Amino acid sequence: MRAVVMFAPGDIRVEEREDPAVVEPTDAIIRLAATCICGSDLWPYRGDDDVDHTPMGHEYVGVVTEIGHDVKTLQVGDFVVGSFFASDNTCEICQAGYQSRCIHAYPMGALGTQAEYARVPFADGTLVATPGMPDADLVPSLLAASDVLGTGWFAAVAAEAGPGKTVAVVGDGAVGLLGVLAARQLGAERIIAMSRHVDRQALAREFGATDIVEERGDAGVARIKELTGGYGAHSVIEAVGTQESMMQAIRATRAGGHIGYVGVSHDVSLDGLELFFSGVHLHGGPAPVRRFLPELIQLIWDRRIDPGKVFDLTLPIEDAAEGYRAMNERRATKVLLTV
Ligand SMILES: [Zn+2]
Repeated sequence: MRAVVMFAPGDIRVEEREDPAVVEPTDAIIRLAATCICGSDLWPYRGDDDVDHTPMGHEYVGVVTEIGHDVKTLQVGDFVVGSFFASDNTCEICQAGYQSRCIHAYPMGALGTQAEYARVPFADGTLVATPGMPDADLVPSLLAASDVLGTGWFAAVAAEAGPGKTVAVVGDGAVGLLGVLAARQLGAERIIAMSRHVDRQALAREFGATDIVEERGDAGVARIKELTGGYGAHSVIEAVGTQESMMQAIRATRAGGHIGYVGVSHDVSLDGLELFFSGVHLHGGPAPVRRFLPELIQLIWDRRIDPGKVFDLTLPIEDAAEGYRAMNERRATKVLLTV
């Protein structure tokens, strides 16, 4: 099969790899209908994470082509959506809704889903079948559910976005934008998107943002305070993962408020005393996307949300290198790869 491999930072190639096969009786093999490049794939691309001939990709939708003999809930031919962590969905952590930290959690990124086929461990626990074969125009939205929508949704839930709440969103990548959409769906009254890119501001407004703040860092915090009568937001979604974005989130939240942080943390350190006096709730981590998949798939199936709009560049998988370049140079928000 054809698959994307990052040889070294900035060096993306598409090469021939062996077709995956069922290894464990709980595995399924899927043929990808589409895959995509994640903002977190840019960390190794820029040399901020180690990479060496690494298969890439952890977002996926596709059709089941083979199942192990212990797979009970899926059949060959099902169209399925899964999360970036495989999970058994039966352990106590999963049952509590934290499938990304399942005691058997397996990172799909280690298998690489920017490929024609993928092996999915714990298929019964990991995959959710759609009600039928989706129309082609639904595929990007279902693919978004696999990570960016599920992650933005978790961030909004963790930040306790809801009726009467003012929600601020730090980060205007795909996750931040879909955090706006999630906050809207959860009934937030006011949604402040922090973005300085005109095209992303427009999509944020389309997804439900009521206000845009272009300032960053302490100036951004001051602007949020100004917009909220000096209090700060009730709920803040942090979708970047840097020191600046995390402090912006903590300082923009009112005492007693909630922060949902889902940007993969890179060299973030928190000052204990500042955290102590902030009086905020911090909840985040790798999003348990699996918890939300049944609900998100239904919302997409019923055409009540259109998260696939975050894909602003579609390329054949053979052109993956250009997709990485476009995202790295911020010419594209999120790149869909057809297979
Ligand atoms: Zn589990």
